[in-house]
Amino acid sequence: FATYVGVKHAIAVNSCTAALHTSLAALGVGPGDEVIVPTLTFCATANVVVHLGATPVIVDVDENFHISFEAVRRAISPRTKAIVPVHYGGQACSLREILALADAHGIPVVEDAAHAAGADYDGRKIGSHGRTVCFSFYAIKNMTTGEGGMITTNDDDLAARMRLLSSHGMSRDAWKRYTEAGSWYYEVLEPGYKYNMTDVQAALGIHQLRRLNGFICRRQEIAAMYDEAFSDLPEVLLPPRLPGRNHTFHLYPIRLNAGLLQLNRSEFIDELRARNIGTSVHFIPLHRHPFYRERYGYQPEQFPVCEEIYQGLLSLPLYPKMTDRDATDVIEAIRDIVAVQPIPAEKGVLSAAIPSKL
Ligand SMILES: *Cc1c(COP(=O)(O)O)cnc(C)c1O
Repeated sequence: FATYVGVKHAIAVNSCTAALHTSLAALGVGPGDEVIVPTLTFCATANVVVHLGATPVIVDVDENFHISFEAVRRAISPRTKAIVPVHYGGQACSLREILALADAHGIPVVEDAAHAAGADYDGRKIGSHGRTVCFSFYAIKNMTTGEGGMITTNDDDLAARMRLLSSHGMSRDAWKRYTEAGSWYYEVLEPGYKYNMTDVQAALGIHQLRRLNGFICRRQEIAAMYDEAFSDLPEVLLPPRLPGRNHTFHLYPIRLNAGLLQLNRSEFIDELRARNIGTSVHFIPLHRHPFYRERYGYQPEQFPVCEEIYQGLLSLPLYPKMTDRDATDVIEAIRDIVAVQPIPAEKGVLSAAIPSKL
């Protein structure tokens, strides 16, 4: 994986959550510290900050679904110990700006690259830019080991500390303990975690890695079909496309143009399901979840861009084994729903027909 990415160290772990937790722990994040994360992400990005006793500082995203540079700039405080941008959907965020800002304040950047194995930015693979970069090989991610993850870094000391932390804090890993060259002796240098990737996972991963570029190519072909099919459909807003980066298309997130549709997002999803098309929403923003809302007192008004994106956000089916016919089914279902939306008058009659008191 290190060779594929073009980075010095790749540390195999058992999930991206473990990768994020280990990265932040190795950087010394603890009680009293703050870690800046975007609100449009999977909960693991912020949960691990809480596990370390630190405070996740949740900020808004920009129009491209990435952590907002301006929001990060405003959120930096003397307590900021890390910034965790997410390469949402497999399209790299504007790392150059974020890294420059972080460098100016001496703050490390830990990238959440759960969607971005194989993505690139500035002519280099994601995994070689930030202080540490965390990948997911979960079942539904672009490459999989069932459950699994990877941390990459060019920092020798940090790599050594992360290896230690991912294996109980023991000074020798199990493999070395049982070879003749080694000995029975090991030392626990700090209380680490059991985050090692298993051999069985690694055996899957080696073969998945060989196929990764092919998977991404197929995803890009389907994404191009969707782009083409919806380009003349004002009800459907296409996912943002940014220049100078190879997009892995882990997700194809459309936005419904609320002003042109009678159906809300939830009804639209039901209509798709009725046509046998499964969809999902990536993600329910962190600030909307009860734990984050109540513990830290976040209000939707603090995240105007994400709120605007979220209300119509919807990920279409996209996976390498999809046939052109499958993609055409999705396209036809969407065109069909957009064409036959109920008109408001009918809705009015329907609701009026329901007796208010029984
Ligand atoms: C899937 C995902 C994770 C967690 O990955 P696991 O390997 O399941 O722990 C973290 N961040 C984002 C953005 C994800 O989509």
